Amino acid sequence: MDTLDIKTIREDFPILKREVNGKPLVYLDNGATTQKPKAVIDAIINYYTDMNSNVHRGVHYLSQISTDAFEITRRKVQEFINAKHDYEIIITKGTTDSINLVASCYGQEFISNGDEIIISAMEHHSNIVPWQMICEAKGAILKVIPMTEHGELDMETYKSFLNPKTKIVAVNYVSNALGTINPVKEIIDLAHAQNIPVLIDAAQAVQHIKIDVQALDVDFLVFSGHKMYGPTGVGVLYGKEYWLNKMPPYQGGGDMIKDVTFEKTTYNELPFKFEAGTPNIEAGIALNAAIDYINRLGLDNIKKYEDDLLQYATEKLQEIKGLRIIGTAKEKSSVISFVVEGTHPYDIGVLLDKMGIAVRTGHHCAQPVMEQFHIPGTVRASLAVYNTKEEIDALVAGVNRAVAMLV
Ligand code: PLP
Repeated sequence: MDTLDIKTIREDFPILKREVNGKPLVYLDNGATTQKPKAVIDAIINYYTDMNSNVHRGVHYLSQISTDAFEITRRKVQEFINAKHDYEIIITKGTTDSINLVASCYGQEFISNGDEIIISAMEHHSNIVPWQMICEAKGAILKVIPMTEHGELDMETYKSFLNPKTKIVAVNYVSNALGTINPVKEIIDLAHAQNIPVLIDAAQAVQHIKIDVQALDVDFLVFSGHKMYGPTGVGVLYGKEYWLNKMPPYQGGGDMIKDVTFEKTTYNELPFKFEAGTPNIEAGIALNAAIDYINRLGLDNIKKYEDDLLQYATEKLQEIKGLRIIGTAKEKSSVISFVVEGTHPYDIGVLLDKMGIAVRTGHHCAQPVMEQFHIPGTVRASLAVYNTKEEIDALVAGVNRAVAMLV
């Protein structure tokens, strides 16, 4: 597929046909979660209709077919991000779960009193708090790469932070609050020059930008199924075999063990060492359908289409008097955050909702970002491949109406 037929794509998403408050739904909250194509919904229904059974445990037929389907997803994820081995793909509950796993297990093994962990000023809370927790537990220090008023990382300060005490760098690929695409390859190369591993939070990237973990040479990469047209409750931790083997398990329980006696337990091999207990099987299986869906459209096509839409939306929104875009980095993806003089983001969000337009308002789980810009929050429109210029026009008209009522 070379160019995307958005009309046909929209047909794939049943929810896009519904109305909200008597108006056609304009769904622009894709950064929070995307809608699901029928193929993903069908995969969930099919799992319960045809194969419901626990995975990795039974010798019986249903357990075997559900295990096979679950493991096909692991290999699909491996291909999708070009991991070297399928056992480097850990199936988790989502990005937050994946980051907590690394912070906890890597932190337990490799972080000591006085060590340093680097994050950035534009992280989602889920890439701040787990690191703060391990800092507190171990007496380590959290260093925060500052950003400019455009929402770009200050790379000179980053370079100056790297030193033998630095034990890990954890930054996002794309900021959920600003849309900035960070120079992750450069961030990784600079850290590796000093043998420091890097975790990339790709929660807002993997559905928009083609990612090759081997080309990036990234040590850990995390993302969520539900932001990439897949189900909630499933996500991915990619980790290099080298690190995963050196890290202790995360949680104890079934599946993650080889042998258990009351005296001693030996742990299972990768990836199961990090997958204790029954996973979210239907979500794991349906994630395969989501990746198939993205692959069918092609990430390059998706990116090109969304970039055009982002540019269109940016131009149109900027025409609104008093509107200020928060996050004006040169490299951006699919997110427009803004404030309008004399209004509160929440009020605009509520009025837009009355018009059937779903946007996010508030701090977007990135309170430090809002603090830096001295604002309580923003209105955030975040795009997916099914959004259209007509929907952007509806947003612009809606913001104009809301502002006329509020100011
Ligand atoms: N990281 C980023 C950049 C995000 O945008 C989000 C969610 O918005 C998360 C992490 C957390 O993802 P989840 O809630 O799916 O664990």
